[in-house]
Amino acid sequence: MPEKEARKDLAEVCRLSYIRGYVCGLEGNFSIRLQENLVLSTPSGICKGRVEPEDLILTNLEGTLCSRANGRCSTELAMHLTAYAARPDISAIAHAHPPVAVGFTVAGMPLTSCVLPEVVCSLGAIPTAPYATPSTPEVSESIKELVLEYDALLLDHHGALTLGTTIWDAFYKLETLEHYAKTMLVAHQLGGSIPLCATQVHKLLAIRAVYGLTRPLSPAVLSSAAEKAPKEGANSE
Ligand SMILES: [Zn+2]
Repeated sequence: MPEKEARKDLAEVCRLSYIRGYVCGLEGNFSIRLQENLVLSTPSGICKGRVEPEDLILTNLEGTLCSRANGRCSTELAMHLTAYAARPDISAIAHAHPPVAVGFTVAGMPLTSCVLPEVVCSLGAIPTAPYATPSTPEVSESIKELVLEYDALLLDHHGALTLGTTIWDAFYKLETLEHYAKTMLVAHQLGGSIPLCATQVHKLLAIRAVYGLTRPLSPAVLSSAAEKAPKEGANSE
Protein backbone atom coordinates (compact mmCIF):
# COMPACT_ATOMS: atom_id res chain seq x y z
CA MET A 1 0.00 0.00 0.00
CA PRO A 2 1.40 3.45 -0.86
CA GLU A 3 2.61 5.26 2.27
CA LYS A 4 0.72 8.46 1.47
CA GLU A 5 -2.60 6.62 1.24
CA ALA A 6 -1.86 4.65 4.43
CA ARG A 7 -1.13 7.85 6.36
CA LYS A 8 -4.44 9.35 5.20
CA ASP A 9 -6.46 6.22 6.10
CA LEU A 10 -4.78 5.81 9.49
CA ALA A 11 -5.44 9.46 10.44
CA GLU A 12 -9.06 9.08 9.32
CA VAL A 13 -9.58 5.93 11.42
CA CYS A 14 -8.02 7.69 14.43
CA ARG A 15 -10.45 10.58 14.05
CA LEU A 16 -13.45 8.27 13.64
CA SER A 17 -12.44 6.20 16.68
CA TYR A 18 -12.23 9.38 18.76
CA ILE A 19 -15.57 10.69 17.48
CA ARG A 20 -17.22 7.31 18.14
CA GLY A 21 -15.90 7.34 21.73
CA TYR A 22 -13.64 4.29 21.39
CA VAL A 23 -10.76 6.36 22.78
CA CYS A 24 -10.57 9.57 24.80
CA GLY A 25 -7.85 12.02 25.76
CA LEU A 26 -4.52 10.70 24.49
CA GLU A 27 -5.54 7.03 24.62
CA GLY A 28 -5.37 4.29 22.00
CA ASN A 29 -2.98 3.47 19.18
CA PHE A 30 -3.38 2.33 15.60
CA SER A 31 -1.01 0.98 12.97
CA ILE A 32 -0.63 -0.26 9.39
CA ARG A 33 2.03 -2.68 8.13
CA LEU A 34 3.20 -1.15 4.85
CA GLN A 35 5.67 -3.87 3.96
CA GLU A 36 6.92 -7.06 5.59
CA ASN A 37 9.18 -5.12 7.99
CA LEU A 38 7.81 -1.57 7.89
CA VAL A 39 5.05 -0.32 10.19
CA LEU A 40 3.29 3.04 10.30
CA SER A 41 1.86 3.85 13.75
CA THR A 42 0.41 6.60 15.90
CA PRO A 43 2.84 8.43 18.19
CA SER A 44 2.39 8.69 21.96
CA GLY A 45 0.91 11.76 23.59
CA ILE A 46 -1.45 12.86 20.85
CA CYS A 47 -5.25 12.98 20.83
CA LYS A 48 -6.50 10.58 18.14
CA GLY A 49 -9.11 13.15 17.18
CA ARG A 50 -6.33 15.50 16.06
CA VAL A 51 -3.85 13.14 14.38
CA GLU A 52 -2.55 14.40 11.02
CA PRO A 53 -1.03 12.10 8.37
CA GLU A 54 2.43 13.63 8.91
CA ASP A 55 2.33 12.84 12.67
CA LEU A 56 2.51 9.07 12.04
CA ILE A 57 5.76 7.22 12.72
CA LEU A 58 7.59 4.62 10.60
CA THR A 59 9.44 1.80 12.35
CA ASN A 60 10.59 -1.70 11.56
CA LEU A 61 9.20 -4.78 13.34
CA GLU A 62 11.81 -4.35 16.10
CA GLY A 63 10.45 -0.86 16.81
CA THR A 64 13.49 0.98 15.43
CA LEU A 65 12.68 4.30 13.75
CA CYS A 66 12.90 4.16 9.95
CA SER A 67 12.55 7.88 9.28
CA ARG A 68 12.81 11.19 11.10
CA ALA A 69 9.85 11.55 13.44
CA ASN A 70 8.39 14.53 15.26
CA GLY A 71 6.96 12.43 18.08
CA ARG A 72 7.86 9.35 20.12
CA CYS A 73 6.58 5.83 19.44
CA SER A 74 3.56 4.72 21.43
CA THR A 75 4.37 2.79 24.59
CA GLU A 76 1.94 0.16 23.30
CA LEU A 77 3.65 -0.25 19.91
CA ALA A 78 5.30 -3.45 21.19
CA MET A 79 1.86 -5.07 21.39
CA HIS A 80 1.25 -4.26 17.70
CA LEU A 81 4.67 -5.62 16.70
CA THR A 82 4.02 -8.85 18.61
CA ALA A 83 0.74 -9.31 16.72
CA TYR A 84 2.34 -8.59 13.33
CA ALA A 85 5.12 -11.07 14.03
CA ALA A 86 2.55 -13.73 14.96
CA ARG A 87 0.17 -13.05 12.05
CA PRO A 88 1.77 -12.58 8.60
CA ASP A 89 -1.78 -12.42 7.16
CA ILE A 90 -2.77 -9.16 8.87
CA SER A 91 -1.73 -5.65 7.85
CA ALA A 92 -3.42 -3.35 10.34
CA ILE A 93 -4.21 -3.11 14.05
CA ALA A 94 -6.56 -1.00 16.14
CA HIS A 95 -6.12 -0.70 19.89
CA ALA A 96 -8.74 1.35 21.71
CA HIS A 97 -10.53 1.58 25.04
CA PRO A 98 -14.23 1.21 24.08
CA PRO A 99 -16.09 1.81 27.35
CA VAL A 100 -18.90 -0.75 27.15
CA ALA A 101 -16.72 -3.66 26.06
CA VAL A 102 -14.08 -2.76 28.63
CA GLY A 103 -16.87 -2.44 31.21
CA PHE A 104 -17.65 -6.12 30.68
CA THR A 105 -14.04 -7.03 31.54
CA VAL A 106 -14.16 -4.77 34.62
CA ALA A 107 -17.33 -6.59 35.70
CA GLY A 108 -15.64 -9.93 35.06
CA MET A 109 -18.23 -10.85 32.42
CA PRO A 110 -16.92 -12.54 29.23
CA LEU A 111 -18.24 -11.69 25.75
CA THR A 112 -17.82 -15.20 24.40
CA SER A 113 -21.46 -16.30 24.07
CA CYS A 114 -22.77 -16.91 20.55
CA VAL A 115 -25.60 -14.39 20.49
CA LEU A 116 -25.43 -12.17 17.39
CA PRO A 117 -25.11 -13.81 13.94
CA GLU A 118 -22.78 -11.08 12.62
CA VAL A 119 -20.39 -11.56 15.50
CA VAL A 120 -20.39 -15.35 15.21
CA CYS A 121 -19.68 -15.05 11.48
CA SER A 122 -17.10 -12.30 11.51
CA LEU A 123 -15.26 -12.74 14.81
CA GLY A 124 -16.19 -16.25 16.00
CA ALA A 125 -15.78 -15.26 19.63
CA ILE A 126 -14.21 -12.39 21.56
CA PRO A 127 -11.86 -13.76 24.23
CA THR A 128 -10.36 -11.68 27.05
CA ALA A 129 -6.58 -11.62 27.55
CA PRO A 130 -5.49 -11.79 31.19
CA TYR A 131 -4.74 -8.54 32.99
CA ALA A 132 -1.38 -6.99 32.16
CA THR A 133 0.15 -3.70 33.25
CA PRO A 134 -0.40 -1.26 30.35
CA SER A 135 2.69 -0.05 28.46
CA THR A 136 4.85 -2.93 29.74
CA PRO A 137 6.02 -6.16 28.08
CA GLU A 138 3.31 -7.93 30.09
CA VAL A 139 0.77 -6.75 27.47
CA SER A 140 2.58 -8.44 24.56
CA GLU A 141 2.90 -11.59 26.63
CA SER A 142 -0.83 -11.56 27.44
CA ILE A 143 -1.97 -11.41 23.80
CA LYS A 144 0.62 -13.42 21.90
CA GLU A 145 -1.24 -16.74 22.01
CA LEU A 146 -4.74 -15.31 21.47
CA VAL A 147 -3.82 -13.31 18.35
CA LEU A 148 -2.87 -16.55 16.63
CA GLU A 149 -6.55 -17.54 16.56
CA TYR A 150 -8.67 -14.42 17.02
CA ASP A 151 -9.04 -11.14 15.15
CA ALA A 152 -10.75 -9.34 18.03
CA LEU A 153 -9.97 -9.59 21.70
CA LEU A 154 -10.39 -7.71 24.93
CA LEU A 155 -7.60 -6.83 27.33
CA ASP A 156 -8.77 -7.29 30.90
CA HIS A 157 -9.46 -3.94 32.67
CA HIS A 158 -7.85 -2.15 29.74
CA GLY A 159 -9.13 -2.18 26.16
CA ALA A 160 -9.73 -3.93 22.87
CA LEU A 161 -7.40 -5.12 20.12
CA THR A 162 -8.58 -5.85 16.58
CA LEU A 163 -6.57 -7.15 13.64
CA GLY A 164 -7.39 -6.64 9.98
CA THR A 165 -6.21 -7.00 6.43
CA THR A 166 -6.65 -3.20 6.18
CA ILE A 167 -7.03 -0.48 8.80
CA TRP A 168 -10.69 -0.21 7.80
CA ASP A 169 -11.13 -3.94 8.40
CA ALA A 170 -9.58 -3.53 11.88
CA PHE A 171 -11.77 -0.47 12.56
CA TYR A 172 -14.98 -2.25 11.52
CA LYS A 173 -14.10 -5.16 13.82
CA LEU A 174 -13.59 -2.67 16.65
CA GLU A 175 -16.96 -1.15 15.84
CA THR A 176 -18.63 -4.60 15.76
CA LEU A 177 -17.03 -5.50 19.10
CA GLU A 178 -18.29 -2.37 20.87
CA HIS A 179 -21.72 -2.60 19.22
CA TYR A 180 -21.99 -6.21 20.41
CA ALA A 181 -21.05 -5.14 23.95
CA LYS A 182 -23.73 -2.42 23.87
CA THR A 183 -26.33 -4.94 22.69
CA MET A 184 -25.33 -7.36 25.44
CA LEU A 185 -25.55 -4.56 28.01
CA VAL A 186 -29.12 -3.80 26.92
CA ALA A 187 -29.99 -7.52 27.02
CA HIS A 188 -28.63 -7.80 30.56
CA GLN A 189 -30.63 -4.72 31.59
CA LEU A 190 -33.73 -6.40 30.16
CA GLY A 191 -33.19 -9.58 32.13
CA GLY A 192 -30.47 -11.56 30.34
CA SER A 193 -29.41 -12.85 26.95
CA ILE A 194 -30.54 -15.98 25.10
CA PRO A 195 -27.62 -17.51 23.16
CA LEU A 196 -28.12 -19.07 19.74
CA CYS A 197 -28.53 -22.83 19.87
CA ALA A 198 -25.81 -25.19 18.56
CA THR A 199 -27.71 -25.86 15.31
CA GLN A 200 -28.06 -22.13 14.63
CA VAL A 201 -24.36 -21.54 15.30
CA HIS A 202 -23.25 -24.32 12.97
CA LYS A 203 -25.48 -23.00 10.18
CA LEU A 204 -23.89 -19.58 10.62
CA LEU A 205 -20.37 -20.95 10.51
CA ALA A 206 -21.26 -22.71 7.28
CA ILE A 207 -22.31 -19.46 5.56
CA ARG A 208 -19.34 -17.31 6.61
CA ALA A 209 -18.23 -17.14 2.97
CA VAL A 210 -21.39 -15.12 2.23
CA TYR A 211 -19.91 -12.41 4.46
CA GLY A 212 -16.71 -12.48 2.42
CA LEU A 213 -14.76 -14.13 5.23
CA THR A 214 -12.06 -16.36 3.90
CA ARG A 215 -9.76 -16.85 6.89
CA PRO A 216 -10.67 -20.27 8.30
CA LEU A 217 -11.83 -20.44 11.89
CA SER A 218 -9.52 -22.52 14.01
CA PRO A 219 -10.80 -25.73 15.62
CA ALA A 220 -10.57 -23.91 18.95
CA VAL A 221 -13.04 -21.25 17.78
CA LEU A 222 -15.41 -23.82 16.33
CA SER A 223 -15.46 -25.93 19.46
CA SER A 224 -15.79 -22.83 21.61
CA ALA A 225 -18.80 -21.72 19.56
CA ALA A 226 -20.38 -25.14 19.83
CA GLU A 227 -19.72 -25.46 23.56
CA LYS A 228 -21.10 -22.04 24.34
CA ALA A 229 -24.35 -22.79 22.54
CA PRO A 230 -26.90 -24.78 24.53
CA LYS A 231 -28.93 -27.60 23.01
CA GLU A 232 -31.92 -26.55 20.90
CA GLY A 233 -35.00 -25.86 23.00
CA ALA A 234 -33.01 -25.10 26.12
CA ASN A 235 -31.76 -21.66 25.19
CA SER A 236 -31.88 -19.55 28.31
CA GLU A 237 -28.90 -18.19 30.24
ZN1 LIG B 1 -4.37 0.81 25.87
